[in-house]
Amino acid sequence: MKPKKFTPAHKSSNLAELVCSNSLKSDSIDKAAGILKSEMIKLKSLVLEAAYKNKVSAGGALAVDREKFSQYITNKIYNNDYIEVINEEATEINFKNTNPIIIATGPMTSNSLAEEIENFIGMKSLAFYDSISPIVLYDSLDRSQFFRASRYEDGVGDYINCPLTKVEYVNFIESLNSAEKIDFHKFENPNYFEGCLPIEEMASRGLDTLRFGPMKPVGLTDPKTARRPYAVLQLRKENEAETMWNLVGFQTKMKIGDQKKVFSIIPALKNAEFLRFGSIHRNTYINSPGKIKNTLQSESNKMVFFAGQITGVEGYTESAAMGIVAGINAGRAFNKKTPYSFTKFSALGILLDYISNANSKELQPMNINLGLFGIEKPKKNIQIIQNNSKKAIDDFINSEKYV
Ligand SMILES: Cc1cc2nc3c(=O)[nH]c(=O)nc-3n(C[C@H](O)[C@H](O)[C@H](O)COP(=O)(O)OP(=O)(O)OC[C@H]3O[C@@H](n4cnc5c(N)ncnc54)[C@H](O)[C@@H]3O)c2cc1C
Repeated sequence: MKPKKFTPAHKSSNLAELVCSNSLKSDSIDKAAGILKSEMIKLKSLVLEAAYKNKVSAGGALAVDREKFSQYITNKIYNNDYIEVINEEATEINFKNTNPIIIATGPMTSNSLAEEIENFIGMKSLAFYDSISPIVLYDSLDRSQFFRASRYEDGVGDYINCPLTKVEYVNFIESLNSAEKIDFHKFENPNYFEGCLPIEEMASRGLDTLRFGPMKPVGLTDPKTARRPYAVLQLRKENEAETMWNLVGFQTKMKIGDQKKVFSIIPALKNAEFLRFGSIHRNTYINSPGKIKNTLQSESNKMVFFAGQITGVEGYTESAAMGIVAGINAGRAFNKKTPYSFTKFSALGILLDYISNANSKELQPMNINLGLFGIEKPKKNIQIIQNNSKKAIDDFINSEKYV
C-alpha cells in the first residue's frame, strides 16, 4: 500500500523496508540463523541475494546498506514481467478468486485488513502485542543452583526453580530498577494487562512486588536447605526435548545488554545463554496453531496462504523464509499439486512446525534458534543439525515436488 498509505513504522516508498536494525543476524552455519540462511540461499532467496550484494561489514553479522538493499529488491520486483504491483491498501480477502492468495502484511497490518483476517480465521485469533519472556538454553544453566519441582507437588516436577537468598533478591531488584529500558515507539501505546506487566514495572512498585508475583516461593522447598527460598525464578519448558526454558512471567523492556547483566545475578543463570531476549512490542500476528498448516495454507481455505511475520515467526530473515515457503506452495497449489511440508530436520521445517503445531495453545512469536531443533546439547551436536538441514533441503530440491 506504500507510498499511498504508510503504517506508523514504515517511511520509505520502496519495498522490503528494514524498519529498525540493518542486520539480518549471523550467517555462520554454527548458528541457527546461519543454518536457516544456508537453506534459503539454496532456495534462491531474493532477500538474501539482495543482502549479500549490498552487505556492509559488521563482524559476524550479515548487515546491509538498507537503502541499496531495498532498492535492489524493488527493482527486481518492478522489472519482473510476471508481477503487477498495485499500490493499494487491501481491505478484504477475495474468496471469489480461485487462484491462491498470499497475505504478507506484516506486524503492522492495517486495521481494516486485520479485522478481515480475524473474521476469516476466527475471532480472538489475532494478537496485537508481543509480550515475550526470555528463553535460555538448558545446557548453559548451573545445575548446582536450581532444583526441579512443581508447586505443592512431590516428585520430579515440571519446573526448574532458581532460588535467591534475600541478599541476591535485593541486589536483583536494585539492578532491575537501575537497568536501561527501551522506550516505546510513538505508535505503541501499551495498555498493560495487570497479569502481564513488565518485571521492571512490577519492581518499581515496591521491593516485595515480584516476590509476591512471578517470583513467589510458595509451595516450593529447596532440597539444599530444606526450606522455602526467599524468592524464586521459575523456568518452564519450551519444548519436549527440554533444551529451551522460558523465564516465567519475565516479560521485559530492558535493553539486551542489561537483561544479560541483571539476569546473571540469579545464581542458576550466571552464565546462561539466551536463545531469545524478553521484549514487549506492537506486533500483529496470528495465533497460528490450528489456523495455519505447516504448508502455510490456512486450515479453512487451502487457497489462502500466509507469509512473513504475521504467521508468528519473528525477525527479518525468518519472515523472508516464510515467504519462500508460501511462494513455493502457492505455486504448487496453482499447478494443482500437493503443497510441500518441510521436515523438522530443516530450519525451515522447525519454524513451520513451531508456528503450526496444534499442541501449542498460545503462540509466542519466535526467532530461529538452536534450542528449537530438539537435539540434546545442540551446540556440541551442531554438525548433526547442519547435516540434517543440508540433506532435508537437498532432498526437497531433488524431488519432483520443487517444480
Ligand atoms: C517497529 C519494528 C521494529 C522491528 N525491528 C526489527 C529488527 O530490528 N530486526 C528484525 O529482524 N526484525 C524487526 N522487526 C520485525 C520486522 O518488521 C519483521 O520481521 C519483518 O519486517 C516482517 O516482514 P513482513 O514482510 O512480514 O512485513 P513488513 O516488512 O512489515 O511488510 C508488510 C508490508 O505490508 C504493508 N501493508 C500492511 N497492511 C497492508 C494492507 N492492508 N494492504 C496493503 N499493504 C499492507 C506494509 O505497509 C508493509 O510494507 C521489527 C518490527 C517492527 C514493527
